[in-house]
Amino acid sequence: MLENFSLYDSVSMRKPHACGTNEWTIIRVGADIKIKCNACGRIVMMDRADFIKRGKRLIKKAEDK
Ligand SMILES: [Zn+2]
Repeated sequence: MLENFSLYDSVSMRKPHACGTNEWTIIRVGADIKIKCNACGRIVMMDRADFIKRGKRLIKKAEDK
């Protein structure tokens, strides 16, 4: 479960991306969440409830950059 997140945070998901990487950047927060794979740049969109359920943990807050 991933409940506290904001735009541009880096997160990992329960299931790694098909490219083998499990680090994503949140690029849109709204009714739908968009995340971008940090390795291959693939963008995935899902609704907020789905994102919370599929999210694993926060890797890095955006403000830590
Ligand atoms: Zn990828």
